[in-house]
Amino acid sequence: MNARNIDARRAVVIGAGFGGLALAIRLQARGIQTTLLEKRDKPGGRAYVYEDQGFTFDAGPTVITDPSCIEELFTLAGKRMADYVEMLPVSPFYRLCWEDGSHFDYANDQEALDRQIHARNPRDVEGYRRFLAYSKAVFAEGYLKLGAVPFLSFRDMIAAGPQLARLQAWRSVYSIVSRFIQDEQLRQAFSFHSLLVGGNPFATSSIYTLIHALEREWGVWFPRGGTGALVRGLVRLFEDLGGRIELNASVAQIEVSGMRTTGVRLADGRAFAADAVASNADVVHTYAKLMNQHPRGLAQGESLAKKKFSNSLFVLYFGLDTHHSQLRHHTVCFGPRYRELIRDIFKGETLAEDFSLYLHAPCVTDPSLAPPGCGSHYVLAPVPHLGNAPIDWEEEGPKYRERIFDYLEQRYMPGLRSQLVTSRIFTPLDFRDQLNAHHGSAFSLEPLLTQSAWFRPHNRDAELANLYLVGAGTHPGAGVPGVIGSAKATAGLMLQALQEGVRA
Ligand SMILES: Cc1cc2nc3c(=O)[nH]c(=O)nc-3n(C[C@H](O)[C@H](O)[C@H](O)COP(=O)(O)OP(=O)(O)OC[C@H]3O[C@@H](n4cnc5c(N)ncnc54)[C@H](O)[C@@H]3O)c2cc1C
Repeated sequence: MNARNIDARRAVVIGAGFGGLALAIRLQARGIQTTLLEKRDKPGGRAYVYEDQGFTFDAGPTVITDPSCIEELFTLAGKRMADYVEMLPVSPFYRLCWEDGSHFDYANDQEALDRQIHARNPRDVEGYRRFLAYSKAVFAEGYLKLGAVPFLSFRDMIAAGPQLARLQAWRSVYSIVSRFIQDEQLRQAFSFHSLLVGGNPFATSSIYTLIHALEREWGVWFPRGGTGALVRGLVRLFEDLGGRIELNASVAQIEVSGMRTTGVRLADGRAFAADAVASNADVVHTYAKLMNQHPRGLAQGESLAKKKFSNSLFVLYFGLDTHHSQLRHHTVCFGPRYRELIRDIFKGETLAEDFSLYLHAPCVTDPSLAPPGCGSHYVLAPVPHLGNAPIDWEEEGPKYRERIFDYLEQRYMPGLRSQLVTSRIFTPLDFRDQLNAHHGSAFSLEPLLTQSAWFRPHNRDAELANLYLVGAGTHPGAGVPGVIGSAKATAGLMLQALQEGVRA
């Protein structure tokens, strides 16, 4: 690498999801001239925003945990997060509902939790305490210590081995929860969390119980103005630092010369030279499509395409002329089956007859997301990805929407249909075509132990020295705190390499 001042170094980041944005901010804050290239007309990736007839719909993440990892991005840039976005606490964190009419308010209030657990099974009060202690131990080890460490060598994995063994990381989330808790509905209440990052509670490593401790530690938050306001705040921070973001900029090729990347070329022909390139796009897309001219791209693309991918989602956004004050901000509506439905979602070849839903009612926290007196909502159903179930969503989507509306109207939102102002859907086909997601997966590679840490695509490519990955497909994985952690790991590697290039 030529000897140049670090300020003259240029980096390109492909994709403006939370991972890409966080990485671009970290690089720009350290003086690397960074260009963020996003194929869609708005930043955010999975956290896109739809606006329709006065309703604002956050497309993806709504449960914002670990605000400290977001705040760190502002602090390292010498700014205050509060000047860019206001975070509002959400309580309860979630309301969990079952078809027998019972519900459980999961909140950061030990007494209220104990009371609700006791009403279901007195012995589970002590069991829950032991589960929380376990989850805190995993959180300390798996999140605080290893959440932003790039697992580049197998030695790193071996070093973490004893702790993983002590915490019984080979067991599934559900199996660990069941060790402590007897009541089946409580088992569901404390094991569904891995679904938030695309993990099957019956197959995903018990390490993912750390989400529970993470929520208890830092709470659940919602940005005023929606998750989109947080995305806009991060874009503003990046631009205030001097970074450049290009929207409608679809990267068609990562240019490679020898064993180094030299920059990228867009579908419209524009070229961006760079000393380092990082991709926040889907990992299979990155290698198989953007590097299909290079043997490394072809080989890695083929190998990654064979991995296990997380489920997809069917998401239905809808605006009503009524505010449903009986709802909480986040509601999980468990269907009649749990284990069997999850099996159908992760392994099934067709769409199940029943569903479990997550219902988002953000106006409970921030009424400004809909016209006065109205409510903006989304409801999502986890569904199989297209590789397992090649469903014709063009045909199935509208029917599925009607089934979900019927269910919500009967059980949760009386009068829904007559109050409907607007609706739109996002199906596995949209994840595939709009986000370039392999198999239309909503969360990239499934977070199995055999696909985590060193086993996950590394934050730096093993062969091309200045090609990097960031986001859900790399360590530590999906979820907003996860991809922001991946940006920290990737930025550390990039800054070190660019710094060494200066000294060379
Ligand atoms: C419906 C839904 C709800 C969720 N809810 C939560 C939640 O409540 N809490 C939570 O923590 N997590 C949640 N998640 C998970 C979380 O949103 C994601 O894991 C995370 O946002 C992914 O971020 P990312 O950085 O990997 O990039 P992504 O958001 O996947 O962004 C990648 C970007 O790359 C762009 N791109 C792709 N190809 C190209 C190309 N060739 N050229 C240029 N740009 C390209 C895409 O357009 C996209 O903008 C949810 C996910 C979904 C789908």
